[in-house]
Amino acid sequence: MQTSELLSRVEVVGIPTRTNFRGVKLREIALIKGEKRWGEFSPFADYSVERDALWLRAALEAANEDLPKPVRTRIPINATLPEVSLSQVSEVLSWFPGSTTVKVKVGTADDEARIREVFAHIPDARLRLDANGLFTIAQAQEFLTSLYNKYGHKIEYVEQPCASLAENRALKLPIPIAIDENLRLGDDISEINSVADLVIVKVAPLGGVNRALKLIERLDKPVVISSALESSIGMVAGIALAAHLPQEMVCGLGTVALLDGDLVTDPLLPNAGSVEVREVTLDPNRVAEFRLPQEQVTKWHNRIARAFERVVAHTEREV
Ligand SMILES: [Mg+2]
Repeated sequence: MQTSELLSRVEVVGIPTRTNFRGVKLREIALIKGEKRWGEFSPFADYSVERDALWLRAALEAANEDLPKPVRTRIPINATLPEVSLSQVSEVLSWFPGSTTVKVKVGTADDEARIREVFAHIPDARLRLDANGLFTIAQAQEFLTSLYNKYGHKIEYVEQPCASLAENRALKLPIPIAIDENLRLGDDISEINSVADLVIVKVAPLGGVNRALKLIERLDKPVVISSALESSIGMVAGIALAAHLPQEMVCGLGTVALLDGDLVTDPLLPNAGSVEVREVTLDPNRVAEFRLPQEQVTKWHNRIARAFERVVAHTEREV
């Protein structure tokens, strides 16, 4: 396929977020119409062209290939609590009805107060903490040990406490460690196996469902399939991957709830602690509502064209 043909299949939209998620207030998304369905290309603004190329591979795979066969019809999901004010905690939790596993972003000033709020609203909550690599070894050690002393096994794991795999290896924590960013950023798999108790797997940053499946084969730890704040269009692939795996796991696939709108007639919103395993139907009215001005469209076209060059070059090398 030529770049011009690819770009003729693209729609560029921006959906406001309901909370400030990693500093993102408008989720910019390029949709790509394929042979089978629409794919979503929505890498974050600060990514390199190499990372963009993986996201584009994932979008093109979703658009043009069959999804893997599901072995279940719903995926249990955790609530995802970004860095919101204490007064907003109960509102955010209400967007994930029925979820008792709550993933809480930590590494901020009022972590403990936010965690207390979670337990005030869901007394039997199981917590997943996500530090996004923000802690030093000493900070992780002190903060997580003191949390464990208060809450014990109510804390299921901590995701990416420190930035580097070497730092995470050096930790001596009473809480299991889930590795996220180190996998996406290409650390060695056998090293990850030796540090991680669990591994977070996200379809788009890893280059698609098939590449994620190959990685999972090489991981000897349980995996938690998570999203990268996609719309329902992009969420289909993550849900399909989770639905295909033999082992059922509570996943981080309910984040459509964090967007203030969607692009489909039948959004993949969480309900009864889970999301449905199914396809979605693009709603042209929503696309029109959220379509970005020409200036941003041009920016995304340039970004897709650059990433597509990489994808084509890689594919030629692999053949
Ligand atoms: Mg994470």
